[in-house]
Amino acid sequence: MEKIILTGCTPQQITEKLNLNQAFRGKQIFKWVSTGVTDFDSMTNLSLELRQSLKENASLRTSQIEQVLTDPDGTIKLIIKLQDGNNVETVLLTDKEGRKTACVSCQAGCAMKCAFCMTGTLGLARNLTAAEIVEQFLYMEQQAGKLDNIVFMGMGEPLQNLNAIRQTIEILCSKDGRALSSKRITLSTCGIVKGIYELADNGPNIRLAVSLTTADEELRKELMPVATAAENSLDNLRKAIEYYASKSGKRVTLEAALLHQKNTSAKSAQNLIDFSRGLDVNINLIPWNPVPQLDFEEPSSNEVHAFVDILEKAGLNVTLRTRRGRKIGGACGQLGKVKNGN
Ligand code: SF4
Repeated sequence: MEKIILTGCTPQQITEKLNLNQAFRGKQIFKWVSTGVTDFDSMTNLSLELRQSLKENASLRTSQIEQVLTDPDGTIKLIIKLQDGNNVETVLLTDKEGRKTACVSCQAGCAMKCAFCMTGTLGLARNLTAAEIVEQFLYMEQQAGKLDNIVFMGMGEPLQNLNAIRQTIEILCSKDGRALSSKRITLSTCGIVKGIYELADNGPNIRLAVSLTTADEELRKELMPVATAAENSLDNLRKAIEYYASKSGKRVTLEAALLHQKNTSAKSAQNLIDFSRGLDVNINLIPWNPVPQLDFEEPSSNEVHAFVDILEKAGLNVTLRTRRGRKIGGACGQLGKVKNGN
């Protein structure tokens, strides 16, 4: 009989799958799993008999840490090996205030082929299970201590694996375990309009970030193949963002990786201003992080600041993200780059 993978289960599912007669036993086991324990003997408030049964019928991990890479700027990247041999990467980002955010992967590889992203060159191997996503979070807490936020912004397109993400969120937010607030959770999409409506209508109510990159329709199609489908046009994407903000009551973040002489002109800035007019959005700009295999260049500091200046003068809320984790291939757009460490 196949073992029950506890990291992917809610308390109720643990109770049902293990045929426990009392729901509180399922909650006790769930609580232990949420603390990150890796052996059943640590579950000291369970009877020896129950622990023995767990050893026979359940498993606490489906994946293992293959490598831990640490950047001098404090960023940590975990390379995690899945049971089928695929690798995924999880990154810890710490901001100036010391808040810790885990950037987790939801797919092994990615099908979306954004031109500026290393992961996009890998193609899609498969969707991750909820257990494989939860385990990334647990591994990162084991390395870095208690995490404040989680962002579905690592390898893969989250709206193509929404069911596993919903299950992950239910597990991480459960009051019986880690009790993470849904306000601390962000999902980042490359702009799948149908998926944005699905998330808005059926939840969970989390923060949404959209990797817009540019508000120039033709350039966006060139950089992000998702935009070549008529249903994901800029006009439809804008409507979906407006809908999400009104349904969720949350401000949406528009993200743009700035690429030298591609999407940083005054015209590009004006397109972004026009796109954002009337929307309740933050603009998050990330100067592109180099990936040798990709034919782009980093923007210069002057180029970035001139772009920011135009947006700010138009009254937009702009955040210029500091580049972190570049030495370990852990920065935005670089995941999948360092396979054998530094
Ligand atoms: S940016 Fe995101 S959606 Fe686009 S290829 Fe990379 S991982 Fe996939």
